[in-house]
Amino acid sequence: MKDFKNFINGEYVTNVSGKTYENRNPVDNSLIGMVYEAGKPEVDAAVAAAKAALHGPWGKLSVVERCAMLDAIVAEINNRFDDFLQAEIADTGKPAHLASHIDIPRGAANFKIFTDTIKNVSTESFEMRTPDGKTARSYGVRTPRGVIAVISPWNLPLLLMTWKVGPALACGNTVVVKPSEVTPATATLLGEVMNKVGVPPGVYNVINGYGVDSAGALLTAHPDVSGITFTGETKTGTAIMKAGADGIRPVSLELGGKNAAVVFADCDFENAVNTVTRSVFENCGQVCLGTERVYVERPIFDKFVAALKEKAEGMKPGRPFDHDTKIGPLVSKVHQKKVLSYYERAKAEGATIVTGGGVPNMPDDLKDGCWVEPTIWTGLPETASVVREEIFGPCCHIQPFDTEEEAVRMANDTKYGLATSIYTQDISRASRVAGQIEVGLCWVNSWFLRDLRTPFGGSKQSGIGREGGLHSLEFYTELRNVMIKY
Ligand code: NDP
Repeated sequence: MKDFKNFINGEYVTNVSGKTYENRNPVDNSLIGMVYEAGKPEVDAAVAAAKAALHGPWGKLSVVERCAMLDAIVAEINNRFDDFLQAEIADTGKPAHLASHIDIPRGAANFKIFTDTIKNVSTESFEMRTPDGKTARSYGVRTPRGVIAVISPWNLPLLLMTWKVGPALACGNTVVVKPSEVTPATATLLGEVMNKVGVPPGVYNVINGYGVDSAGALLTAHPDVSGITFTGETKTGTAIMKAGADGIRPVSLELGGKNAAVVFADCDFENAVNTVTRSVFENCGQVCLGTERVYVERPIFDKFVAALKEKAEGMKPGRPFDHDTKIGPLVSKVHQKKVLSYYERAKAEGATIVTGGGVPNMPDDLKDGCWVEPTIWTGLPETASVVREEIFGPCCHIQPFDTEEEAVRMANDTKYGLATSIYTQDISRASRVAGQIEVGLCWVNSWFLRDLRTPFGGSKQSGIGREGGLHSLEFYTELRNVMIKY
């Protein structure tokens, strides 16, 4: 049994209240350990430590010295790759091949990309004539914003947390992280890495707990927090934006989606099927960028549905380290219940269930895990709840279309605007459609392909702000103007 403590001012600490909650493995519902819930005393201590650290040795480092420290963090995560892998897999149940290719390496790389960015960014400088005939020069200075609250979700726990902690620290801020209550392990483990490489106490803090009425809400309401960066559901983002309004604190929000794939008849069929298989089912559908609505041009509709059905039925569920495991469980019983409730709703709304729609038959020792079947529906109107609401499970609805205009209209008919992928070999059509789709991220003949220097974020109700490369600096630094009269 493991203890997941809070990490405050360089030390692992329990709590004043004595309250703990269980952390369970979604593969078989076994108990991993107990988590110490942070209350007001712990949240206050973490924010105070982060505030003090801004003016300690951390605040005196040059950019190059700070970046060297972050490079050491990357090296130490890679040194302890297996510890991070085991921790992430125990919390999420995801297949080892996925976590070892995406979660942990990208979790480490998120520090590296921002050290490269911050070392090379310049600010503007202008000379001007003053009204009294003298000369003045003004220039920009980037300063850290201060204490950043990082609130992260459970689907890619390390990766999505360091996507915020990396740039925040590269820019000289300090952070207080609140990981999801169901995936506390890798954020907690990162504290050991910080201590090992000599990151000063208070620079990186972790508080565990729930969101509403718990650590998350206490943290976002704290007056000494200077900025809040959040990835999670749109309704939580709304609550966080309201919390940020008190004290006029900026927020960066990466929120939900109901992403479309638009497959034209002239696509490379094999590539389209393989890529949509990934975008629907990878990480058991728990990817913000994942596809839940597929629009296929009518001449290839039946062939596409049959091909995706075959792929879905080939996704063998199983233990994370088994070589033939293709799909893991959902992250928790709560989430399993939510996804299964959508499976029931699809039936009630009259969907044709092409495949799946329930819980797979698992061996006895895994029966208590959070499994659901990869599921495909057809035949629903665009008004059906499973076509409109984010489910965050391994499922999609496939709809035929006849014209490009119709496909664009259906893809855009959502309150969300995170991601879309378009499959066609006609480059003119690809760029024409990409220009009309109302999303932050649009892929052509691909999915999840990222260059970390480019902007990442959602439009409409999928978020505010962009992270990645230079765009992260907009949020994690305050740009100050200095004007010197000669
Ligand atoms: P949630 O919004 O439920 O939770 C995210 C985090 O916010 C958790 O740590 C949660 O704590 C905390 N939280 C909840 N309520 C509050 C509050 N009032 N104040 C402060 N913190 C709070 O999201 P999930 O963890 O369920 O993640 C899945 C969602 O994330 C999906 O909607 C998905 O689309 C979105 N997402 C978006 C991405 C993007 O880049 N746009 C990327 C990945 C996911 P607790 O766990 O205790 O509830």
